[in-house]
Amino acid sequence: MTRVWNFSAGPGALPESVLRRAAVDMLDWQGCGMGVMEMSHRGKEYMSIHAQALADVRELLAVPDNYKVLFMQGGAIGENAIIPLNLIGRGDGADYVVTGSWSKKSEKEARKYGKTRIVANTESEAGFTTVPALADWQLSDNPAYVFTCPNETVVGVEYPFEPDLAQVGQGDVPVVADLSSSILSRPIDVSKYGLIFAGAQKNIGPAGVTLVIVREDLIGHALDICPSAFDYKTVADNDSMYNTPPTYPIYISGLVFQWLKAQGGLAAIERMNVAKAELLYRCIDGSALYENRVDKACRSRMNVPFFLKDEALNDAFLAGAKEADLVQIKGHKSVGGMRASIYNAMPLAGVQALVDYMVEFERSRG
Ligand code: PMP
Repeated sequence: MTRVWNFSAGPGALPESVLRRAAVDMLDWQGCGMGVMEMSHRGKEYMSIHAQALADVRELLAVPDNYKVLFMQGGAIGENAIIPLNLIGRGDGADYVVTGSWSKKSEKEARKYGKTRIVANTESEAGFTTVPALADWQLSDNPAYVFTCPNETVVGVEYPFEPDLAQVGQGDVPVVADLSSSILSRPIDVSKYGLIFAGAQKNIGPAGVTLVIVREDLIGHALDICPSAFDYKTVADNDSMYNTPPTYPIYISGLVFQWLKAQGGLAAIERMNVAKAELLYRCIDGSALYENRVDKACRSRMNVPFFLKDEALNDAFLAGAKEADLVQIKGHKSVGGMRASIYNAMPLAGVQALVDYMVEFERSRG
């Protein structure tokens, strides 16, 4: 069996040890004679898996006691609707900071449920390449929340700061953050956010579960039209088991959380992520063939888009990469070029293999 180096933007690679553990547990989880997929979510076996996963993710992110951690369904795109359904009634509409295609889409969805305002937008002819300074966000007087996407997966733009609105005198306004592609990649200060959400299929586990971390005072304000299964109060009051939770994705996510703890937690994983990203950006910057167009300060550590200056070489580049077992590096169709996603589960050796290939490809065309 050959495992390739998988640079998929998501669903992305999982740690090999997690997959091996899941294979061992497939027919019989810890001697109970059943696999996890076959268990009642109300049984003591699954309940223990669920509780442990919640406790581990709380520990990894140092979630303060006044926040609930929820496992939901509907993905991050689902949350684009679920968030306004739950929060927009609290204020006079909602503010959106648009720094890429994902936050742009989030604002569009929210319009169905209330008034939205785009309070900063970095789209230019060159696409999205930067993050506006906090001082340049034209926040409104009484927004229900300010929506941000601190790592834009498609365009590879990441905030170089945590959006702490206290710095601009608006500390009471809750910041909502779509961390789908950067959660667990570094420590964050959860107390700076009102709500954090992330689809699982990049740095958490398999597609099918959505992680939501929400401050308790933001729960209980849902619009009447909000479906019960998506009302944060219903979900929180029922320990994320109001309806049947995605049990298997939660179980695998739990194994990923344990793997992360064994790596030394988020400070340790951040050091590895910095080393991986530096290696790849150094290769791009040092070459005459490749380029990355994002402001250096706002380059994503997780999603690294790059272009071949001679686009006629794209197909040859991708074919050669595949032969070297380097897969899923074609850029998003809206952007073109290449994109290497280097989430937590991608080891430095995988990034080194990509860099070696890129150097050799450039040399052979030189
Ligand atoms: N937001 C971001 C930042 C994403 O990267 C993605 C998925 N690539 C989504 C939202 C959409 O997630 P889902 O498909 O889980 O709804």
